[in-house]
Amino acid sequence: MNGMKEGWFSELSSLWPGISLSLEVNEVLHSEKSDFQDILVLQTKSHGRALILDGIIQCTESDEFAYQEMISFLPLCSHPLPKKVLIVGGGDGGVAREVAKHPGVESIVQVEIDSHVLEVSKKFLPFMGTGLTNPKLTLHVGDGFRFMAQHRQEFDVIITDSSDPVGPAVSLFQQSYFELMRGALKPGGIVCSQAGTVWANIDIVAQTFQHCHLTFRKASFACAAVPTYPTGQIGFVLGSLSPETNFKEPLRIFSETELDSFNLHYYSAEVHRAAFVLPRFAKKALDEI
Ligand code: SAM
Repeated sequence: MNGMKEGWFSELSSLWPGISLSLEVNEVLHSEKSDFQDILVLQTKSHGRALILDGIIQCTESDEFAYQEMISFLPLCSHPLPKKVLIVGGGDGGVAREVAKHPGVESIVQVEIDSHVLEVSKKFLPFMGTGLTNPKLTLHVGDGFRFMAQHRQEFDVIITDSSDPVGPAVSLFQQSYFELMRGALKPGGIVCSQAGTVWANIDIVAQTFQHCHLTFRKASFACAAVPTYPTGQIGFVLGSLSPETNFKEPLRIFSETELDSFNLHYYSAEVHRAAFVLPRFAKKALDEI
């Protein structure tokens, strides 16, 4: 069930047919079935600890920083004053860890559907799980879609750090979810959602981008390299209520000293700008929207 064979874990999914990333495993640290998903924590041979949900790699210790920094700082640095931030999903704690670093952020609210992921992360993945105990954070256990429907004009930035569009996360990729996010934002608010890879199922990526494009006055798509994600890359859709937003040019630029003091290893203003430059095939697919 969990893709383990002869000391290797292999990630198999119909979302990226015919290709699979494998991690050599030293030890299975934890395995359980929660009400929502299979949860597996592995001690891998060369990539540190890994969190796997329903057979899909969510993060590994070696490269999680790339994803967490980008999904956090692309929207935060595109907003003039991101005081109040909502994180949907993000049960490992990595995004909360990063968002809390931004000097303008005063409070963070997070809604994660699976309390078991939160507990497992705190226990087995402390390099991310510490984010869940940040004093700026208020944590709710519940469904992000339902939570969104109950909040109006409350947040400056909403980050959807969800698993892929299978299982409990399906609703977070629907047009109606983007509309609910629009309603939960303060004027000028910005959203950023995990949006898969342009190298597999570009139609699903394009559909998520279309939802964002139809809902927000400005929409854009960015990519980051994350070696242990399928095809080594992950995309983000970003939307803004303000027609003034130019996602490609960060409003907040951190100095080298700040980047060092925030312990950022991937994100910088240069990487921010470059993330929106797409290969021709991907640009064409999204331009057609
Ligand atoms: N970085 C990861 C990735 O893209 O593979 C995602 C990491 S994070 C562990 C994803 C979290 O989203 C999981 O803990 C899962 O329980 C949570 N999640 C899935 N559906 C959700 C929903 N409807 N509401 C809130 N959280 C949800």
